[in-house]
Amino acid sequence: MHNDIAVREDIPLAPYCSLELGGTARFFVSVNDSAELIEAFKWADRKRLRVVILGGGTNLVVADQGFDGLVIKMEMKGVTIKRQGSYTKLTASAGEAWDRLVEFSVREKLAGIECLSGIPGLAGSTVVQNVGAYGQEVSQSVVEVVVVDRRTRRERTLQPLECGFDYRASWFKKNPHSMAIVSVSFALRPDGAATLTYPELISEFRAKSGLPSLLHVREAIIDLRRSKSMLYEIGDENRRSVGSFFCNPILSRQEARKISRFAVERSLIRTEEEIPLYSYDQGRVKLSAAWLIEAAGFSKGYRDGNVGISSRHALALVHHGGGTTSELIDFANLIRRTVKRLFGILLRPEPTFLGFAHDPLVESEAE
Ligand code: NAP
Repeated sequence: MHNDIAVREDIPLAPYCSLELGGTARFFVSVNDSAELIEAFKWADRKRLRVVILGGGTNLVVADQGFDGLVIKMEMKGVTIKRQGSYTKLTASAGEAWDRLVEFSVREKLAGIECLSGIPGLAGSTVVQNVGAYGQEVSQSVVEVVVVDRRTRRERTLQPLECGFDYRASWFKKNPHSMAIVSVSFALRPDGAATLTYPELISEFRAKSGLPSLLHVREAIIDLRRSKSMLYEIGDENRRSVGSFFCNPILSRQEARKISRFAVERSLIRTEEEIPLYSYDQGRVKLSAAWLIEAAGFSKGYRDGNVGISSRHALALVHHGGGTTSELIDFANLIRRTVKRLFGILLRPEPTFLGFAHDPLVESEAE
């Protein structure tokens, strides 16, 4: 079957990205199903063009010079729900808004993704990033990912082990041009209890008796995220961001001890126990990147021209309007260099970069 696709030329990408920055796509096409996606791949192959997949644009930094290839915007919609033994399989097409899916799961009393409430972006993109928040990450409930393989131009169903999930990372993130995600299925627990592991969330329910419902947890998380400008809301002065710009570093206990000793010596904290460390796996700990950034002198609301740090969260770099991607990259590099110089830690960026000739944050690694 032949599917007509409407490829457009020279389309500005800034309106498709939460940062509202970046140049144009030389070619741009929206696709509504796998057949159109395969047509788009064939079209790009005939023209020997590079291809990128665009989801919600909420975790994307586009270069000022734009992208000299084909941008494929995922518009596939549809949600199905199916009881399978002890769990319920919830399947979402890649173009479904993530938070609407979470809202639906909570309404259906299906536990497993409620802590991921309020995260902007599309369902398909969550597996690329192995999105996580408040003690849950998608890899804990993903059971299947359907993709279109760029090389064979066929659909394939991947099992979770094939997705190479890691902390805010996956096989898809490391191999961005090989496959396009078409749908994702989650195994959710019917009438299951909400996950309550993060102190900030637990304290919301401390005074109340009984276990909170999924809906109450969702509402509490949305309120928490709103208080930190971590919802994408028109009118919020911090909205032009990609959420967290850096990942929390995972360190050996020995490295972490060195940093906490240094922080005490510099009076950044009073005792070593005050450092915001969380156990990650056997032998390794996770250190708050936001804390490192603030300790390096970049406090909330810090401004550098048209970019800066969110007034409500040190991990979000924001664009205030009228800026360029280079300004943002320079600022990110400044933070990275300063943290490296002070603490010996090179912060790993969280977003995806598009249209850059070289890794834009590589410059600070050389120092
Ligand atoms: P926070 O309470 O200021 O804590 C800072 C960091 O410490 C968090 O990033 C979190 O790591 C970690 N943490 C806190 N309590 C923990 C616990 N009990 N066990 C393990 N790790 C713990 O957190 P926040 O920055 O406001 O963020 C709250 C949650 O929302 C976090 O899970 C965060 O990842 C998520 N979030 C994500 C984004 C994004 O753009 N990806 C943006 C905003 C918030 P983890 O990040 O590994 O959870």
